[in-house]
Amino acid sequence: MTEKSLFSGSEASNYELKVIEDNLKRIKEKISLAMDKAGRKDRGDKVRLMAVTKTVPYEKVNYAVSLGIDLLGENRVQEFLSKNEFYDKKTEVHFIGGLQSNKVKYIIDKVKMIHSVDSIKLVDEINKRALSSGRVMDILIEVNIGNEESKGGFKSIDVDEAADYCAGLEGVKLRGFMTIPPIDVNGSNGRYFRQMQRIFADCRTRHSSIDTLSMGMSGDYEQAVLYGSNIVRIGSALFGNRKY
Ligand SMILES: *Cc1c(COP(=O)(O)O)cnc(C)c1O
Repeated sequence: MTEKSLFSGSEASNYELKVIEDNLKRIKEKISLAMDKAGRKDRGDKVRLMAVTKTVPYEKVNYAVSLGIDLLGENRVQEFLSKNEFYDKKTEVHFIGGLQSNKVKYIIDKVKMIHSVDSIKLVDEINKRALSSGRVMDILIEVNIGNEESKGGFKSIDVDEAADYCAGLEGVKLRGFMTIPPIDVNGSNGRYFRQMQRIFADCRTRHSSIDTLSMGMSGDYEQAVLYGSNIVRIGSALFGNRKY
């Protein structure tokens, strides 16, 4: 199969579309319950639902958009570029995947925010490219909250320094933090989300541009909402399990 045929022209059956609709309804209900439980509704607090599109054909993505999804999360530069032209243009797109510095130039004018800023080298490149295209890129610092060797992102002890550094750059606007906590084996990820909530609150007092906490995926978004997440990034719970 060519790459193009993976992401386009694959007919999404009515059945598959109905499943997406049902999934979306259930996810929204669960988010709503968690918002209630956390007392966040009373405070007029909001959470955005991002549809994570990796491996999902653009027809299904556009269907989700037709149901009201207004934020897409992209992981892979090549895949994004091959699908982007087929997306409904009014939809906001954020880049959330591991990003090599040499690929920044391909997405700099195509996304509103980059969630996966995991090194100074990367933010320097984003800053440079943003300045030369006459824009300011919204960014989130990726925090390796479990201090896992296998994962990218800043360790929690380095976050303050990274935030100060990013805040000093003119081509980027530091909006907050993103995290992918360790795989949750027994529903105990609350402590990681709580640590992120604290980092977010602390940094916010020093940088007024910070307003975004991106955490929670298919397996743990309700818990993330309890700890103040305001963007949940959901792939498989919406579109079904990824086959490749
Ligand atoms: C794939 C991915 C998601 C969504 O994962 P699901 O478990 O399918 O919801 C969220 N965030 C990032 C960074 C991802 O790569």
